[in-house]
Amino acid sequence: MLGKLAGFDDTIVALATAPGIGAIAVIRLSGTAAIRITNGLFPSRDLAVQASHTLHFGSLLFGGRVLDEVVVSLFKAPTSYTGEEVVEISCHGSPYIQQQIIDACIQSGARMAKPGEFTQRAFLNGKLDLTQAESVADLIASNSAASHQTAIQQMRGGFSSALQDLREQLITFSSLIELELDFSEEDVAFADRTRLYALVSSAMGQVQQLIDSFRMGNVIKNGVSTAIVGKPNAGKSTLLNTLLNENRAIVSEIAGTTRDTIEEVLNIGGILFRLIDTAGIRESNDTIENIGVQKTMEKIKEAGIVVYLFDVNELSVEEVLDQAHFFASSGVNYLLIGNKADVKGAAFYKEKFVTIPDILYISAKHHSHIQEVKDALLHKVMSGDVTTGDTIVTNARHYAALQEVLKSLRDVKNGMDHRLPGDLLALDIRLCLHALGEITGEVTNEDRLDFIFSKFCIGK
Ligand code: GDP
Repeated sequence: MLGKLAGFDDTIVALATAPGIGAIAVIRLSGTAAIRITNGLFPSRDLAVQASHTLHFGSLLFGGRVLDEVVVSLFKAPTSYTGEEVVEISCHGSPYIQQQIIDACIQSGARMAKPGEFTQRAFLNGKLDLTQAESVADLIASNSAASHQTAIQQMRGGFSSALQDLREQLITFSSLIELELDFSEEDVAFADRTRLYALVSSAMGQVQQLIDSFRMGNVIKNGVSTAIVGKPNAGKSTLLNTLLNENRAIVSEIAGTTRDTIEEVLNIGGILFRLIDTAGIRESNDTIENIGVQKTMEKIKEAGIVVYLFDVNELSVEEVLDQAHFFASSGVNYLLIGNKADVKGAAFYKEKFVTIPDILYISAKHHSHIQEVKDALLHKVMSGDVTTGDTIVTNARHYAALQEVLKSLRDVKNGMDHRLPGDLLALDIRLCLHALGEITGEVTNEDRLDFIFSKFCIGK
């Protein structure tokens, strides 16, 4: 199917770097006329006779006017990103020059690329599978080190190869079962049911793990909502400032959000922690369980993590225990942090609170043991079964398809438990293969592809 879709006769052009002013900008052309079009603007050298993967310096001219001094990178088909003839023009990064060069390319016969069209061509020319192509979109949109890592890993095919293995094994079984059907008169069994059963069981485990990782993947992409709460004067503002000084996430790290909707965001170890506004708690003179302010409680419950900060000199063991029980009974994921441990030294307070083993002792004011707070926050996020090193599903489409895969695997397994005849088993295996193919792109249609690639930015 892919072969038929591939083979475009038009040549597309777009700015490949971020729009705006930069030191340099890269304009990318892909298609059969990419070299001819560039040749018309770049008299210094005949690119058609140059080797692939070479750089050429010279002036770019259009309408008798020098547009810029540029470096042209040449990637000949099929060893380019898209599999087509690709030319990348590195020019000076002024938006005016970028626009002039793109206009010149369009007037010479190229057309403006649609979002994701370069990657779409790469996919249709068999350079990437769909999972990898979507990871390119995630990579462009990735907003922290960890989400960058996830995208890179998917692109390298960690996710696809696990699913590909499964798919191949299922195909083998389904063809063996179908072969059996052809010889049904003779009552032979080619397909080893015990092996199929084992395969299906282990596949269910793997798919379940990928489904579980979806939540983790979302955490990486969207950040973890975090509330720092405690009595007045516990040192919440001080701790906040200490953390922000070292770890404030820059605005551009946060996808699709404006400063208005976000109070503060910390970037700890590549995970974004969104500090949710608990002003109500900060201003109140009551302990949390007495506030009774519905809204504040909602905030606490919606937080992924609650950091409960208390003054180790002020609070009694009972008060801290009460607080901890309150969080635990509300299903809140919390950290207990004893502040102002500098006053008498951590050893003293460890003794005082010996019955509560999980307290971290810090001094927000003197910046001591802050790393432990960060480690504990990260640990909370990572302590699910999934770590960032594993393949992580971050894409809602993958998630839905994986649910389908799991369901059909379950049907295959149930079918075997009930000794279903081969033809019915084969049908369930087919459904499973179909769902798997939805993820890796083997089963797809052009509408779906257009939808997926439209999420890209232009120039990719
Ligand atoms: P908030 O009301 O919880 O936001 O508390 P603040 O951050 O405003 O701190 C209240 C007071 O405690 C201030 O005077 C801080 O200087 C002081 N404070 C905060 N952290 C520490 C600490 O680690 N050690 C000591 N000794 N004082 C602290």
